[in-house]
Amino acid sequence: MARYTGPVCRLCRREGTKLFLKGDRCTSGKCALARRSTAPGQHGAANKKMREYGLQMREKQKTRRYYGILERQFVNYYEEAARKEGMTGENLICMLERRLDNVVYRMGFGSSHKEARQLVLHGHFTLNGKKVTIPSLLIKAGDVVAVKEASRDSVKFKTLAEAAANQTAPKWLEVKAEEMTAKVLALPAREDVDFDFNEQLVVEFYSK
Ligand code: SF4
Repeated sequence: MARYTGPVCRLCRREGTKLFLKGDRCTSGKCALARRSTAPGQHGAANKKMREYGLQMREKQKTRRYYGILERQFVNYYEEAARKEGMTGENLICMLERRLDNVVYRMGFGSSHKEARQLVLHGHFTLNGKKVTIPSLLIKAGDVVAVKEASRDSVKFKTLAEAAANQTAPKWLEVKAEEMTAKVLALPAREDVDFDFNEQLVVEFYSK
């Protein structure tokens, strides 16, 4: 399935929740969901009651879209989460949290997952001192993610560092915004992710 290139605010309206896909606009009064909360399309405003399958599918789409992951890759994450010990849903969310592009986003260097992914793809970050360009890399405890030396003096990264300094990082990440680095103190746990996912519905969707 190809990456969605249409208006992203439609995705939030479809899922009925903010997915924070447009950076600063999402927290401003210009947020499309704040102005029009109905689902997109001709019958979006109709009060349709969803069946069990619909609820599970919407939750899966919401989770996938929040992290900006294609369906095939998301299925791979699910299958790997199911193979691990413990609760599959929690394993899934924790794995998604460990993606390098998500870590950059949590550091505050990127106002959306999409921007964070672009910055990684363009080679602006290092992992334990080595340049990385793979947004899907999974970080481990003790890893250090940093802005590449050559990118640090750019206006773009100075602005991002200022924004990061004003942001509260999750407790599993020690962010030094002025140094443009973050150390992974521990692997993220489910309770560290404050977005409202119902991962059990995602598991039910795939386990049919
Ligand atoms: Fe979603 Fe952000 Fe658009 Fe609001 S502005 S609808 S949160 S993408």
